[in-house]
Amino acid sequence: MDFTTIKTIEDLDKIYPKHILDKFPIRGKGPFEHVSDSDWYDWHWQLSNRITTLDQLKKIINLTNDEQEAFKLGSAMFKMAITPYYASLMDRNDPHCPVRMQSVPAKGELTVLPTDLKDPLGEDKDMPVPGLTHRYPDRVLFYVSHDCAMLCRHCTRKRKVANPTSAALRQHVEDGLKYIRENRQIRDVVVSGGDPFHLANDKLDYILGELRKMDHVEVVRLGTRNPVTLPIRVRDDGLLQVIQKHQPIHINTHYNHPKEMTREALLANTRLALAGADLGNQSVLLKGINDDEKIMTELCHKLLLMKIRPYYVYQCDLAEGISHFRTPISKGIEIIEKMRGWTSGLAIPQYVIDAPGGGGKIPMNPNYFVKKEGNKVTIRNFKNNQYDYYEVDE
Ligand code: SF4
Repeated sequence: MDFTTIKTIEDLDKIYPKHILDKFPIRGKGPFEHVSDSDWYDWHWQLSNRITTLDQLKKIINLTNDEQEAFKLGSAMFKMAITPYYASLMDRNDPHCPVRMQSVPAKGELTVLPTDLKDPLGEDKDMPVPGLTHRYPDRVLFYVSHDCAMLCRHCTRKRKVANPTSAALRQHVEDGLKYIRENRQIRDVVVSGGDPFHLANDKLDYILGELRKMDHVEVVRLGTRNPVTLPIRVRDDGLLQVIQKHQPIHINTHYNHPKEMTREALLANTRLALAGADLGNQSVLLKGINDDEKIMTELCHKLLLMKIRPYYVYQCDLAEGISHFRTPISKGIEIIEKMRGWTSGLAIPQYVIDAPGGGGKIPMNPNYFVKKEGNKVTIRNFKNNQYDYYEVDE
């Protein structure tokens, strides 16, 4: 079986048993029922019909006064753009809907704390050429697009995403490729943005093809949120042919809440896996959205059903205007502690803080060490039962 035989959500019946399919609800088009199937399932139509104005948004959801005010005061700082697909998942009346909170401006965005940072991960200071961050010896972050299907309200790259003046120029892409070509210690390239799935297939094909010509480049990773915000993009066989052509390809996506895991999302990830991609997920711990062990556990269980490894859960970083999404670090550790032992280790992501200023990812873990006396080390398990382990003398 390959991706060309699984084209629609009906085809998923050929692969999965009913009890698995039932976990991924079939969502209608919601307020877009009038749109023809040929438009709805065309990713270009989805992009050119993104919801970007208050009037368009008012037709889809009942906006609160706070949301309207946030849009009026805040959209100059960070635009709104929501695909019709993602908008169709929003609750019309509930401002706490996790899909709505990630896509509709909120008043919290107007607050910039003195400790907030424009470039929270210090990505711009480690750029040997524009559009490429080289911080670790053997790997680089290569920005090939500065737009995304949807503009996430919690985005860490707000300073660049959807800012036309920072668009990844063709020359930047060429300069980035040249840099990677000339620096043979680079083994691992993260192709990101923005979103590389935002590129036309031939452009992505070109970039991946150039990378694959370099015999020192082994790992190629694509960071994309399209499987979440525009899974219809993955109905495009041309995209999957590109992915299949340049193996091995790892794809990291960004699901934050089980509500994003629809039958269309299952189709997209099934097709990506059938095209040979290895799939991972990087979620962000977001207050009021997924800062709860039950939600995080359901999210991770459903990721595994879609063949996606829960890779990281990030502490929400210090980007400007996202402090309303931040939880205490202790909340993240508590969630991991409540998952560990109660579900498989495969379902537990590594909780990390991407250190402000460019320190890299620092793991945050519950402490299972109790004490050490001589060569006896006392540790505790997930039920708080203690066990002694004896080290050999050095
Ligand atoms: S998909 Fe990623 S880069 Fe794009 S807006 Fe969302 S968080 Fe930012």
